[in-house]
Amino acid sequence: MFTLAIILILAGILLLILGLYPARKICAKTKHNGWRMLSILISSFIIGYAGVFVSLILSQTINPILFGLSVILFSGGIFVYMVTSFSLNTIEKLHTLAEEEKYNALHDPLTSLPNRKHCIETINLLIEMETPFQLMLMDVVNFKQVNDGMGHFCGDQLLIQIGQRIASHLDKGDFIARIGGDEFVIICPNKTDIGTQAIANVINFELKKPFSIDGFELTSSSIIGISTFPDNGSDAEQMINSADVAMYWAKKSGREHARFRSSMSQGARKKLQISRQIDQALENEQFRIFYQPIICSKLDIVCGYEALMRWVKEDGTTISPIDFIPIAEQSNKINSITEWLLDKVAIDIDAFDDAGIHCPIHVNLSAKDLMGRNLENQLTRLANSDPRFVATVVLEITESTAINRLRSPEKLLEKLKAIGFKISLDDFGTGYSSLSLLRDLPVDQIKIDRSFLYQLEDNDRNRSIVSNAISLAHGLGYTVVAEGVEQLEILKILRMYGCDYIQGFYYSPAIPLQEAISWTLRHNPPQINELAHYTT
Ligand code: C2E
Ligand code: CA
Ligand code: CA
Repeated sequence: MFTLAIILILAGILLLILGLYPARKICAKTKHNGWRMLSILISSFIIGYAGVFVSLILSQTINPILFGLSVILFSGGIFVYMVTSFSLNTIEKLHTLAEEEKYNALHDPLTSLPNRKHCIETINLLIEMETPFQLMLMDVVNFKQVNDGMGHFCGDQLLIQIGQRIASHLDKGDFIARIGGDEFVIICPNKTDIGTQAIANVINFELKKPFSIDGFELTSSSIIGISTFPDNGSDAEQMINSADVAMYWAKKSGREHARFRSSMSQGARKKLQISRQIDQALENEQFRIFYQPIICSKLDIVCGYEALMRWVKEDGTTISPIDFIPIAEQSNKINSITEWLLDKVAIDIDAFDDAGIHCPIHVNLSAKDLMGRNLENQLTRLANSDPRFVATVVLEITESTAINRLRSPEKLLEKLKAIGFKISLDDFGTGYSSLSLLRDLPVDQIKIDRSFLYQLEDNDRNRSIVSNAISLAHGLGYTVVAEGVEQLEILKILRMYGCDYIQGFYYSPAIPLQEAISWTLRHNPPQINELAHYTT
């Protein structure tokens, strides 16, 4: 019994010593006073245990009480060891989780490169330390085509490989981040203009070498805008903006890279500002749809509407679509706008329906909407979820859209027609090949551009163009809308030529949904509102 008691106390001391180690580690990690106290307590326990051990050895006697004490001391040792080692384990796991969380918050999950937040923090740090640096903003030129044409998997793989390839060509101390979509930022501290230019050249050169993606070989290219600290900005946003302006300028001038100059930013700055605000505007619901009535010229009743975008800013000022749609088109943000518009029109159909109005609603599509599959997918989804959508929505595409940007718009238009959508050819007559478009495109309607109505009363050329365009369209089985009708005299002439529909300030400008409903109910004779609908 004596020997067993001795062994138990010794084991207890050993366990306490083993328990002291994790406790000290926890102390070092957490720097918490509680754990420091615990370590001191464990150390004093060890001394206490040693005291009992020595007195037992010296007395060489054992009784049931002393044996019980040795069992308790042993159990205490086990307890202390378990508590400290389990706690260390848990704290280490929490630490790893926190580290992972921190890593994730600062890195892009796709490429594992630093993300926008990390990039901005790095720029701000360099600025704080007053370290001169050059910032390159890089846009992958054909990313959207790869993403849309070959699918998101291939797009993702391309971004990963581009990230790796660029990173492997950077010098020690350079920094690369993916700050969004296909945009990368490369920061080169303490580099000369020539040094940065050399890196830009290497990047452009490297991206032109083939990437192997999912069994395909494809090449890429980039456009790079460069800004310099402290010359081109005093904070992260300004530095990125300046590089963005330079990149935009390079794109416009057909170059692979450009260094920021203040002359580039006139005009471009405003565009850039608008482009950046578009995402926020979508998020903050600053876009509105106004509806401009389209009137049936024979019956003088409302037979449709054109949905036109309005951007009402927080301070109540509005930005005209003429100012922001072309910028949205350049920066690919038009896709998000059109997506928003179509979803909103789908909701507004209910409001028209509730008021007993069942008229077509024309929506404008831009060339970029017709690239890729997003539009087709969204229209199919909306058509499947509500049969009224496809019966109501008329898709307007402009002649320039059809001519310039798409190699074969017919295919997509045929698909959309097969779903049941009607197609209207907007701004008719302004393109260079209106006649061949009429022949080749599966449209249902033309909209004669406003410019042809100019002084229609006494401009013989315009009269001839308008009357012949109407006859031609009718001969092909299409209906005709004249847009931009402002005067009664012009309306009368259009009626005489047999123009089917009239749109213009003579009747009404584009107005908010509820106003468009009340305007229609006021304009149409009461019995018409019951059955007002027309086919394009
Ligand atoms: P658009 O498609 O040719 O639309 C007709 C434009 O003519 C509208 O200008 C309309 O308000 C204006 N208008 C209509 N009647 C008259 C008139 O009697 N006199 C005059 N002077 N103007 C008239 P708005 O709303 O400023 O839109 C301008 C352009 O912006 C549109 O031209 C269209 O190309 C584009 N746009 C507007 N909303 C959208 C949209 O949701 N998506 C796309 N892709 N483009 C849009
Ligand atoms: Ca239009
Ligand atoms: Ca038009």
